[in-house]
Amino acid sequence: MKIKFVCAIVVVCIAMLSLFYCAEKRKARGGTLPTGDERKMSQKEHLTVPDVQPEVIAFYCLDPRLKDAFEELLEDDLGLKGKYIPMLKFGGPAAFANQSQLFTDYSDLKVQIAFAREHWPHSIKRFVLVAHEQCGYYKKKLSQNGQVDLEKRDLFKAALHLQKAYPGMEIELYYGRFTNAEKTRMSFEKVERHALQPN
Ligand SMILES: [Zn+2]
Repeated sequence: MKIKFVCAIVVVCIAMLSLFYCAEKRKARGGTLPTGDERKMSQKEHLTVPDVQPEVIAFYCLDPRLKDAFEELLEDDLGLKGKYIPMLKFGGPAAFANQSQLFTDYSDLKVQIAFAREHWPHSIKRFVLVAHEQCGYYKKKLSQNGQVDLEKRDLFKAALHLQKAYPGMEIELYYGRFTNAEKTRMSFEKVERHALQPN
């Protein structure tokens, strides 16, 4: 009888210790145990592309509504899948045309461009700039003074700036417009630089 009692006490102690150990481990991990999905995620392997030679640096807006549209333009329409570096800011290439108002964005982009061009000095030959109408970043950060399609006009200014700053690089411009009232669809036009005039 006595032996059974001692065994029961030992079992209870072991159970309590293991519970305490698990709780401490959970605390160290930030409070939660890994879920099935997390365990699966840590075991899953993802493909990388070790020998990538990007040809293009693409600037487009971070607006999450338009991510798929921009990627379809670049990958399906322009055939750049695996060949471009997305260099993203809200407003897309707006900072190149509005350097003083968007100075932080502009400085960040310059650093990122320099790094990319140092890293792939022979493969990167082209900038692709994509702007879109009714950009929320323009509304928030830039005084539009009632100008419609300022984003499109800024493409031209941005291209002029990039041409001076990075001579020899090719520059292509695209402008996106919503094609339905719900703004669930967008189409892009290629903007010819001679068709635009700087302000
Ligand atoms: Zn935008």
